[in-house]
Order: sequence, then C-alpha cells, then structure tokens
Amino acid sequence: MTFSVNDYVDYCVCAAALISENKDYITELDAATGDGDHWANMNLGFQKLVDSNQALRGESYSGLFKKIGMTLMGTIGGSSGVLYGSAYLSAAKVVGDTDEMDVRILNQVLSAMIEGICERGNSGPGMKTMIDTLDAAAGELKAALAEGLDEEGALRRMERGAKRGMESTARMAAVRGRAYYQADKGVGHLDPGAVTMYYQLKTLAECMLKKR
Ligand code: ADP
Ligand code: MG
Repeated sequence: MTFSVNDYVDYCVCAAALISENKDYITELDAATGDGDHWANMNLGFQKLVDSNQALRGESYSGLFKKIGMTLMGTIGGSSGVLYGSAYLSAAKVVGDTDEMDVRILNQVLSAMIEGICERGNSGPGMKTMIDTLDAAAGELKAALAEGLDEEGALRRMERGAKRGMESTARMAAVRGRAYYQADKGVGHLDPGAVTMYYQLKTLAECMLKKR
C-alpha cells in the first residue's frame, strides 16, 4: 500500500469533518473535566488545514508534517495546539524526504509523535490525556507488525487500540491537563483530548484501508 502526501491531506479533511460534527459531545466532555474549549480549539486548527489544503499538496512528507505542525500550533491554542505542533514537528524528522507512507512508516510516525508530545507536555501514558489513545494505538500497530499481520489486520488493530486507549481514560485520575485540578481528577469522564485523538486515528485507519 502506498499512501501519498495528497492522500494524507485528504485524510486531514476527513478528520476535520468528524471533529466538526462532534461539537456538542467534545465541548461537554471538556466542560466536565476542563474549561470547555477543546472542541473549539481543535475545530479551528483542523478547519485551517481544510482552508489551506491546496497549499499542503505536492510536498514531501517531512514538508507536509512541518506545515501541519506549524498550522496547528498557530491556530489551535490551548495546550493541545502546542502538543499537536510538537507531535507533527517530531514526526517530520523521522519521515525523511519520502512522499509515500505505509504501515511501517506510520509505526515510526506514531512513535515520534508520542515522543514529541511527552517531551513537550512532560507527560506519558496513564495520565488521562490524548497520549493514552495514541500510545495504545501505536502499541497495537507495533505488535501487529511484529506478529506479521498484513496491512489490513495491522490497521484494524491500530484502530481498536486507539479506541481502547480512549476508553481507558474514563477510569484514570488525571495527572496532566486541567482535569488534574478538579476534585475528582476527572474520574468517570473520558478525556476530551483522548477522544479527538481517537477521531483522527480512526479516520486515518479508514483512509489507509481504502487505499489498499
Ligand atoms: P487546555 O487544557 O489548555 O484548555 P485543550 O482543551 O485544547 O487545552 O486540550 C486539552 C487536552 O489536552 C486534554 O484533554 C488532554 O488530552 C491534553 N493535554 C493537556 N495537557 C497535556 C499534557 N501535559 N500532555 C499531554 N496531553 C495533554
Ligand atoms: Mg480546554
């Protein structure tokens, strides 16, 4: 399977649509554990990617990821803007000048994103953040590749991992993010950043599966 830079831009447009559709749900989640702006922040960033999608095409992956990182950092605002910026700038460093992606490169990209976010956010898995979704997805993808699953099997497992990671945040007491300052540390509520991360990974898996 080859997933071109243009395919990745198309994926961003699809992810933007899924985020846009879930305004009330994500806003309620962030109102319960944070300050209620997570949907507005993410929507602003992803709509900016939609608006500038023509300018993102025709790059190498490293150029694309740098532009996405700068765009998200400049528009999202809140903690998540800086964290997504770091994720993409970190991913830009591992993709070299390739203009095609496959599940093996995706595996490296996810690891780099985790490193970028954790370094910037002084965070890690188990702290009730977007990392929990990303880390579970990356772990499943890595295991699937090690076990020799085909691309379809690997992508489906990545998607299930992302879902499991997202769901696991409901049980967690927050160690990072605004939920940490709540009396109950957000226990019983999903982390909004974990949910929007799931939207992205689920959409990416679907888009890559279509290109097989
Ligand atoms: P803010 O918290 O500044 O209002 P957002 O509402 O846009 O920013 O984003 C909140 C989300 O960011 C949280 O739900 C969580 O997933 C994520 N987050 C916050 N702080 C961290 C951190 N230090 N490391 C990783 N993710 C974080
Ligand atoms: Mg917020």
